[in-house]
Amino acid sequence: MVRASEEDREAIRESVRRICAEFPDSYWREIDKASAYPQAFVDALTRSGYLAALIPEEYGGAGLGMMEASIILEEINRSPGNGLACHAQMYTMGTLLRHGNESQKRRYLPKIATGELRLQAFAVTEPNAGSETTRLQTSAVRRGDKYIINGQKIFISRAKQSDLMLLLARTTPYDALKNKTEGLSVFLIDMRETGGRLDIKPLEMMFNHHTNILFFEDVEIPVESLIGEEGKGFRYIIDGWNAERILVASEAIGDGRWFVDRAAKYATDRVVFGKPIGANQGVQFPIARSYAHVEAAALMRDTAAGKFDRGEKCGAEANMAKLLSSEAAWEAANACLDAHGGYGFAREYDVERKFRETRLYSTAPINNNLVLAFLGQNVLGMPKSY
Ligand SMILES: Cc1cc2nc3c(=O)[nH]c(=O)nc-3n(C[C@H](O)[C@H](O)[C@H](O)COP(=O)(O)OP(=O)(O)OC[C@H]3O[C@@H](n4cnc5c(N)ncnc54)[C@H](O)[C@@H]3O)c2cc1C
Repeated sequence: MVRASEEDREAIRESVRRICAEFPDSYWREIDKASAYPQAFVDALTRSGYLAALIPEEYGGAGLGMMEASIILEEINRSPGNGLACHAQMYTMGTLLRHGNESQKRRYLPKIATGELRLQAFAVTEPNAGSETTRLQTSAVRRGDKYIINGQKIFISRAKQSDLMLLLARTTPYDALKNKTEGLSVFLIDMRETGGRLDIKPLEMMFNHHTNILFFEDVEIPVESLIGEEGKGFRYIIDGWNAERILVASEAIGDGRWFVDRAAKYATDRVVFGKPIGANQGVQFPIARSYAHVEAAALMRDTAAGKFDRGEKCGAEANMAKLLSSEAAWEAANACLDAHGGYGFAREYDVERKFRETRLYSTAPINNNLVLAFLGQNVLGMPKSY
């Protein structure tokens, strides 16, 4: 990993800001209105190399650390934009990097780094297996030199904007297992080679998020698609959770800072009853309070990312960063909306769009209840609810 100095980090921050400045409020507003994919933005980010921040240099990436990747996503969300359009590549790639064999890494990582291949889709959730991942039913049955996939996945984001998809599927029936965390396997699927047997149907969501329901009907994939050992997939996915939590926390922090900046500016400019509304403590204090909470969450994120980069255990910090930042962003979103009065609901102010977008971080990729359960049970040693 490249050891970045504070100056390097500031340079990354500035450079991401410059890219984002080319995509102003109006760009994101129109994309949202048309439910379109921000392709021009994703292309610019890919060209800059920042999407390949976490891919080691030997595989064509920037070889940066979690702290730098966090800064990149934070700055995207601090702009009018949103990293959700392309963030999955950063952490999904980690499963391939940590558990793939050398030939898989050489085959895919350099092309992912240049953008020639897009790895934006990560398929875990099913209609009957959301928080309880070990219940998933989509099956992968080995037949000769192929696996045959059957089943259904839901909420699989960017499947239509991706070439590759990381899939978690069952290779041993649930009832045949002693240890219920085994029997699941990870596959890297090339969706362009599924012979029309993978049906992708877009879902309409609360905000412009390209998520889908997937139907696998006898989808044949080569055995070489298996990542690591058969049956160990759940452990491989868990290995990636800390990175995912830290990166999602960074997006929430970016949103939080955007809301605080916009709210403070509007509250200073808008005059009602002969004075700026921000002079009233009823308007000022919620903004100031959410600012304090966003900055505190950022410190926890920094701690988590620092530990991650030093190879230290960071489960508690990564989970706390995700919890605190999603709550702080939501608090800032409400303070910003309230400060804007009726204008907060008008599309041209962009507050309502960011408001819809930022609500996701409390729910996905993992619900905050499950984060609290991790802290209560795994960190504090209290009894398990499941
Ligand atoms: C916009 C969006 C994009 C997504 N993208 C992806 C994607 O790309 N890939 C993917 O695989 N998934 C994706 N997801 C799915 C997401 O990860 C799941 O929604 C999430 O894991 C929760 O699962 P669920 O919706 O089935 O909720 P459920 O598991 O049904 O839970 C419902 C509620 O019950 C609570 N709950 C359940 N058990 C407990 C307990 N023991 N203690 C306390 N509370 C509990 C949960 O916290 C939650 O509040 C996406 C979801 C959304 C909304």
